[in-house]
Amino acid sequence: MITINEHYLKLQKSYLFSDIAKRIAAFQESYPDTDLIKLGIGDVTRGLPKASISAFHKAVDEMADDTTFRGYGPEQGYEFLRKAIAVNDFKSRGADISADEIFVSDGAKCDTGNIQELFTQDTRIAIPDPVYPVYLDTNVMAGRTGDFADGRYNGIVYLDSVKENQFVPSLPEEDVDLIYLCFPNNPTGSTITREELTTWVEYARDNKALILFDAAYEAFICDKSLPKSIYEIEGAREVAIEFRSFSKGAGFTGTRCAYTVVPKECAAHDAKGNKQLIHGLWNRRHCTKFNGVSYPVQRAAEATYSDEGKTQTKALVDYYMKNAAMVCTTISKLGYDYVGGKNSPYIWIDGKIDSWDFFDMLLNKAGVVCTPGAGFGKCGNGYIRISAFNSYENVTTAMTRLTETLS
Ligand code: PLP
Repeated sequence: MITINEHYLKLQKSYLFSDIAKRIAAFQESYPDTDLIKLGIGDVTRGLPKASISAFHKAVDEMADDTTFRGYGPEQGYEFLRKAIAVNDFKSRGADISADEIFVSDGAKCDTGNIQELFTQDTRIAIPDPVYPVYLDTNVMAGRTGDFADGRYNGIVYLDSVKENQFVPSLPEEDVDLIYLCFPNNPTGSTITREELTTWVEYARDNKALILFDAAYEAFICDKSLPKSIYEIEGAREVAIEFRSFSKGAGFTGTRCAYTVVPKECAAHDAKGNKQLIHGLWNRRHCTKFNGVSYPVQRAAEATYSDEGKTQTKALVDYYMKNAAMVCTTISKLGYDYVGGKNSPYIWIDGKIDSWDFFDMLLNKAGVVCTPGAGFGKCGNGYIRISAFNSYENVTTAMTRLTETLS
């Protein structure tokens, strides 16, 4: 008899986006002429950098010719891309990461979800609340949690990210082994300072713990004093794995390219307490279960590091950040507290009422769709997330409508 992994039965239905979709459908049926503006989903809306498109086309043409055709590539990614990443994303910022510590993949979602399988079942996990749900759900699937009760899974150490700590969680009181951090944060848009990140690195070193640092939104950091990578912090190489993506900064959400950094010193321990290097184990896993990102996509990603690619990628980020600045100005004029929007495309707004009530009010009175914070965890209730990923014109109209509704 085939039996299933019962841990899957513990998973909470992801009601968030289906509930949003249902409410939108009901609204549109009642008001078919209202032009809804969606500032809810974290997907980019603008075309890829021109430099990436040219490189993409050229690589596709290479695939058509027997003399330049490429079949399976290296699972870890082509050397040209790994080198470009190491030089531009790390060495340029004083972070000592080499090309062979980079594992190119088709998404930070897959990598942040898959990495947990390297660790034992009884690993004590710390996860922020609110949170990008992948970290939590993949540990539930793996059986590292108890049941769901009162908005939380038993067995997880939740790191509250709330107004009182400026949405940067404090160190846990109990011992933990594996810590998920994400900065700039989804959903709150908060950032972490060098000093705060140093505290986490020291915690991990002192407690033989490991930090999984999700930097999918690093491209939006404008403040030069903020770290873009955890490897800008001394001592992080031994205790941190970093996840990056071309999705948000360069607009690759539909093209798919990301990477994970596993420094060679980074270690976990075996049952006898001996250090085991993670690099070789992740390499083994990656090569066994993944067959590489397509050649044209890797060429398109490489092109984001050319001079024109850098300028065009920055222009994309600047475009969204102009939207974010407009949202911040409007929200603050209306007297609402918010975080994010300065080094992040997300603005996390204290709606002062239940998240879903605020969502309904914006939908029904302003024709604007946001994301209710409650969908990201217990600490998200009372908040809504507004995303800067839309056209400047739509965001301008949405902010005019918000002002009329909330004034
Ligand atoms: N990490 C965070 C925090 C995200 O918000 C997202 C996407 O929304 C991802 C990772 C996924 O990135 P990718 O498109 O590379 O899978």
